[in-house]
Amino acid sequence: MDYHKIREFIKERQDKIISDICEFVEIESPTYNEEASRKIADFLESKAKKLSCVSKIERIPKSQGTHLIIHAFGLGSKQILIVGHTDTVHNIGSKKRNPTRIEKNRIYGCGIFDMKANCILILEALRAIEKASENPPLPVTIFLSCDEERGSRTGKPIVEREASKAVSCLVCEPSANGKVKTGRKGTASYKIKAVGIPAHAGLEPERGASAILELAKQIEVIHQLNDKNGTSAVVCTIKGGSKPNIVPEEAKCSVDVRFTDTAIALEIDHKIRNLEPFDNRVKLEVTGGINRPPLVRDEKMVAFYEHARSLASQIGYDLGETQVGGASDGNFIAAMGVPVLDGLGVKGDGAHTLEEYICIDDIPDRTTLLSMLILQPFGL
Ligand SMILES: [Zn+2]
Repeated sequence: MDYHKIREFIKERQDKIISDICEFVEIESPTYNEEASRKIADFLESKAKKLSCVSKIERIPKSQGTHLIIHAFGLGSKQILIVGHTDTVHNIGSKKRNPTRIEKNRIYGCGIFDMKANCILILEALRAIEKASENPPLPVTIFLSCDEERGSRTGKPIVEREASKAVSCLVCEPSANGKVKTGRKGTASYKIKAVGIPAHAGLEPERGASAILELAKQIEVIHQLNDKNGTSAVVCTIKGGSKPNIVPEEAKCSVDVRFTDTAIALEIDHKIRNLEPFDNRVKLEVTGGINRPPLVRDEKMVAFYEHARSLASQIGYDLGETQVGGASDGNFIAAMGVPVLDGLGVKGDGAHTLEEYICIDDIPDRTTLLSMLILQPFGL
């Protein structure tokens, strides 16, 4: 197969691709913003409809957003699954602080790197295949979730349903400086609430039981769970007290836990759920639990990566790999035993910050690689 031809098509369309990316990024789409999510789905649906290889488009509206499924090159009981998301971590108005703009080789914008540009590139990969009159050996299903950034509460069952039919799955989440992700940590999150006894802070503080003091001590305990083998436990938010002169009755914190091993995660889960109060007058309430299992760099994963690397080398592209702490929907899919290659998105940096950007010169290679992985899927 002449992949240089596909790359040429993509390169010729680059200006149009860039303007589509910019237009798409301009529609801000924080998770759980129903209206924004609908607009984003409209945008992608109208683009996808123009492709003759697209067989069916499904919109799955939920109360806080719209998931989108695009089927291309027919429908079948077996498929190649491509996964991504349309939501971002940025609130409406964030684009004032990171305006969508082109600066030399970079396009900046909120959520552009994670991973709105890649939503456009997936469609461009289909377009290039169509233009080259090629046909993938299996139907292609693209699932774009609207709540991935918040743990895929409603997206998870759909991801799992589609993955159950997949021979392999391409996850178009951001790359790590171009490297694909062959390992991701699992995640767990918790909310801890301490309820103590309020009292006058000056007259009779001894009658009170400080929720803040209790929680501060618990945070030390949680911090001890961090280890050198890749387990992290970080208290990310804290809130407490009511007035500057009252022994605080209530304090809350949220905890983010990452792990490479499920057995360790279960142990930590048990510890956090059973935290013992230092002051037995204070009550501790713990909610939350394990969210995503780890994505493990096993033999299958290495073979998938080698497959992609050898395809990439056909267009002179050097595809690296790495393992990271952040989780994605790829974690759920890998746990089902389906081969997953994650981090297939275009080069860039600054995910979840106001300096997010992608690299323009990586667009043709990265999009061609996607086309290649569709035309020669792993797992057949
Ligand atoms: Zn993402």
